Amino acid sequence: MHVAHTLEDLRPHFGGVLIPTMGALHTGHIELIEIAARHAHDELNGAPVVVYVFVNPTQFDEKDDFDRYPRTLETDVAIAAEAGAQCVFAPPVELVYPQNESIPVGTIPDCAVNKGLEDAFRPGHFEGVCQVVRRFFKLTQCAAAVFGEKDWQQLQTVRAMSEGEGLGVTIVPGPTVREKDGLALSSRNVHLTKDERERALSISRGLRAAQQEFTVADAERAIRESVTSAGIDVNYATVRDAATLEPLPPHTTASELQAPARALTAGRLGLVRLLDNMPWPSEP
Ligand code: AMP
Repeated sequence: MHVAHTLEDLRPHFGGVLIPTMGALHTGHIELIEIAARHAHDELNGAPVVVYVFVNPTQFDEKDDFDRYPRTLETDVAIAAEAGAQCVFAPPVELVYPQNESIPVGTIPDCAVNKGLEDAFRPGHFEGVCQVVRRFFKLTQCAAAVFGEKDWQQLQTVRAMSEGEGLGVTIVPGPTVREKDGLALSSRNVHLTKDERERALSISRGLRAAQQEFTVADAERAIRESVTSAGIDVNYATVRDAATLEPLPPHTTASELQAPARALTAGRLGLVRLLDNMPWPSEP
């Protein structure tokens, strides 16, 4: 296992499959590394698998969240090696954002603008994501990159950006990994108290309840009821077109859908913003 801090160190691993992360790796990230390894083997002739660890300051809208974000590089390297990566790239901030160079943000795809989702509740977030992802793609010259479905709007945004701008990077999705009781894994979950951890289950419960409802309006109501009843301050609880993230008419039934739909929710509980999503209705 190789740990690269400079482009010179990274050079032998150019052209591979990238897993962009902010570190504090958990089982969700391990799943993405394993997907990357399969993609590298099956589609790219055994290209290298590179885990990128960088807590990107430009995508945080709250300074406290950035300061408190867990940083555990040594453990991350061991986890990445065990999961099958060949390299961890952990550049210093000056390499990603050199002082006298302006790093382009590019055009923000439509699915990340005026949707009332993460774009509304984390102003500037997708500008930061698009900026840093374009930058990683350039620095690592990767052929493919794996992103988790857990951050659904981010996955659609990065896919639209790569296709729309012809960046030549294949975006490979990875399913959301959950605890046995349904809570989606997240590096931020360490900040939940025992009681909050219990209440956080209302998120996946609400999404699962929504999957059983017949109309968009009823599905949205089911999510909101579950989440608010646990005392979570809901940001949104909605069913959208899965790719464009446009709203759907409330009376649409599952059988009338013209394209895949996704149920998405987010809310704040104590120090943590929780977000999650599931297909709507449930996949067969
Ligand atoms: P992060 O380190 O939280 O920025 O996430 C890095 C990547 O891991 C992103 O593509 C996330 O969508 C993905 N990810 C985060 N949590 C999970 C999870 N529970 N299951 C699968 N992928 C995840």
